[in-house]
Amino acid sequence: MSEAQNDLGAEIREIIAHEGPISVERYMGLALTHPTKGYYTTRNPFGAQGDFITAPDISQMFGELLGLWAAQVWIQLGAPAKFLLVELGPGRGALMADALRAAKAVPEFYAAIDVHLIEASDILAELQREALAGCGRPVTWRRTIDDLPPGPAIFLANEFFDALPVRHYVKTAEGWREKLVGLGEEGQLAFGLSGETEPYLKAVAPEGSILEIGAGAQRLMPQSAVRIVTQNGAALAIDYGYDHTGFGETLQAVKAHEFVDPLAEPGEADLTAHVDFAALTRAAQAANAQTLGPISQGEFLHELGILQRAEALKGGASAEQAEDIDSALARLTGAGENEMGELFKVLAITRRGLKDVPGFVPPEDMA
Ligand code: SAH
Repeated sequence: MSEAQNDLGAEIREIIAHEGPISVERYMGLALTHPTKGYYTTRNPFGAQGDFITAPDISQMFGELLGLWAAQVWIQLGAPAKFLLVELGPGRGALMADALRAAKAVPEFYAAIDVHLIEASDILAELQREALAGCGRPVTWRRTIDDLPPGPAIFLANEFFDALPVRHYVKTAEGWREKLVGLGEEGQLAFGLSGETEPYLKAVAPEGSILEIGAGAQRLMPQSAVRIVTQNGAALAIDYGYDHTGFGETLQAVKAHEFVDPLAEPGEADLTAHVDFAALTRAAQAANAQTLGPISQGEFLHELGILQRAEALKGGASAEQAEDIDSALARLTGAGENEMGELFKVLAITRRGLKDVPGFVPPEDMA
């Protein structure tokens, strides 16, 4: 079993042997961002050779349109002479590089940009440095949003919230109990249930139901929303997720484009959970922010003019390149099973009353 050779698996088993079973949240955090043995901190997971492909890898159009979204939002925010353009979890840095290139079309916006990248992985930070070399704007790396300087800020997060750790609870005859990662009979990592119940969890559900709580996301969202409300700004979160909180768990592990057991090889497989956009919306609104959406990625990109952008790119392209552009367009906006248009959702957070946020129908016009 390869887990036996895996350093991080051994370290986690040792933690459990000393401290007792750990939450799924702690397990997921260690597996993804342990400083020296985590999945993101030890590799570049992206691309056809890696474990998964994301929208900015599929086409430059994605980052370009987000850059132009930010430019329009910046105007709505009152065009501050300096502001932070923050990306959470920038991966290879392609989104920000494409966004900044597109931003040059709005020179005053471009000149106001101070780029801040929130990144847990030094390896990925290095790739981001290469991708942004010569981008023409100052770039600073930060571990968390607490490390950001004050001021107006526009946040972009693509496939970031799904990497934030979740907690799981299971309904038993006595009440909700937290699902924990402990040691099985052969000393292997195994799921179990806490001996204690969680009396503050009131959700009514049949025995055996599972409740997944986006613990990491629900800490980050109020922090970002408070900042947006008090210091001016906006945020865009794009992710695979759902817009009604329900029961069931979505934790999954992917290695080399295949699903694997989430406990088998901590640090070697990507772990994600679908994003609960309803919970994010409630958290942002509780901090007095305005939320727009979630809407589908397909609808959002169409509103931002992806068809026109694709046509413009095809204007100077060979027949083969034109075919690539069309297939990227379908992948980003299509409603099929292997396409992102319907599966991915887009949520915007702004200070209250901000008007004309591109891509979204204003709240008062909605049915
Ligand atoms: N946005 C990119 C990458 C998504 S993968 C894209 O669309 O391609 C998730 C990214 O978030 C990686 O860069 C990973 O290293 C980073 N990350 C994951 N958990 C993090 C955390 N808790 N704090 C900071 N960065 C994190």
